[in-house]
Amino acid sequence: MEQHLAHRLMDQLARRGGLHRVPPAEVIAPSGDSTLFVSAGIQPWREWALSGRPERAGRVGLQWCVRTNRLEAAGAGGIQTAFAMVSDVRRGRIERIRYFEELLTAFQAIGLDPRRLGFLTARDSAGRPLDDATHRALTRLGIPADRLATRPHRMSAPFPGGPFGPNVFVLVDHGSAQVPHRGCTPGCTPDCTCGRWFHFWNCEFLDLQLDGAGRHEPADRPLVDSAGGSERLACAVLGRPDAYTLPALASVHAHVTTMARGDTAGTDTAALLRRVTDHARTAALLLGTGVVPGGKRHGHVLRRILRRAFVAAELLGAAPHRMVGLVALAAAAHRGWPGFPPVPDHRLAMVGAESEAFAALLANGRRAYRDLTHGAAGLTAETVFRLKAERGIPLEIVLEWCRRDGRSVELPDITEQMALEQRTSRVGYAPRPGSPVPAARRPAASPAVPAAGPSDSSPRSQS
Ligand SMILES: [Zn+2]
Repeated sequence: MEQHLAHRLMDQLARRGGLHRVPPAEVIAPSGDSTLFVSAGIQPWREWALSGRPERAGRVGLQWCVRTNRLEAAGAGGIQTAFAMVSDVRRGRIERIRYFEELLTAFQAIGLDPRRLGFLTARDSAGRPLDDATHRALTRLGIPADRLATRPHRMSAPFPGGPFGPNVFVLVDHGSAQVPHRGCTPGCTPDCTCGRWFHFWNCEFLDLQLDGAGRHEPADRPLVDSAGGSERLACAVLGRPDAYTLPALASVHAHVTTMARGDTAGTDTAALLRRVTDHARTAALLLGTGVVPGGKRHGHVLRRILRRAFVAAELLGAAPHRMVGLVALAAAAHRGWPGFPPVPDHRLAMVGAESEAFAALLANGRRAYRDLTHGAAGLTAETVFRLKAERGIPLEIVLEWCRRDGRSVELPDITEQMALEQRTSRVGYAPRPGSPVPAARRPAASPAVPAAGPSDSSPRSQS
């Protein structure tokens, strides 16, 4: 369903804008890119986008992307580590009104009534709108003033040194009937964070460049980059605020739910279920692409994702090796998606090996925990952090063990806790030579996403 809607939109955009359909590139970013994985649909098209003369024909395509810059937030809200992004990129300067007319007509053709849409454009620090051209164009197309709002300004610049410009967020009104929002008014505007407005699409008008003195001037090679995640698009069309209810993710999520043990009172079960679901899919995508869990670069990202999934599974009361079946299920749920290769059995076996290493780490940590807590009714913060620093046991697992054993934990407040964590992290935990388990304190090698990330498909914080 998600894929079907994405293809229908791409057909519409291709036809109306005279765009070429381009097949997906591999999710591993070309060497030399600032990210390890492709993090936006336009990224593999850099050469095409920045070279050559402006032309009428643009490109449209679906691209699997991986973003791990907000790994800790994955599972909460709409943050996902892998998503399929639909991108429409055009070279040259395009009149805003013509552009939005095409876009809104394409949205309407897949079931998104323009009357349900809202728009957020950039404003400066004094609160003045910075993108008058978009406001004027949308007003002329009949978008009422109460569906046009502004947000703090941040220029989009997908390519360092390339053209940059304002970003327009497109949102759909999920209405008060679907999303209860306490304390809000029925007539709230798209800048409201009550949960009524669902951000699913971005339009970046990259028509500026810097002159020799650092001032803005019209770009020699302007671009329009318009994009959104296919699941967010489906959520917008179907009036659902939650991608985990869409068929592909829902099938994995349902299975994770059956794995969870009843006794998860001390945990945020919903976020853990989503974390496992999301990470199973991302692991399947990476394994299918040929990434192997390891200690460096792409392999390290995959190992971190698997490890976070094992931790979440443990907190849910499920054995880590259940991830093998979940990764296989996630791969099967995305069969036929362009750019999502199947996972061969020998790579699934690698998930099994990683899960065994993690189980061994937990067993060792559990013994240390028993020794350290012998005869004690509670744990000091120092002990908790020693288990983390010296044994690699994540804090959330130590806390869960204490909860299950009815032990109290003297945890200092959050600032003291962070200081303590930093102190213990300098203890210099080193893995045993040949240990297949990643060191808990090894610096994360997550790929950096440019500060002005292109076509952010993630939602604004809605809570
Ligand atoms: Zn509101």
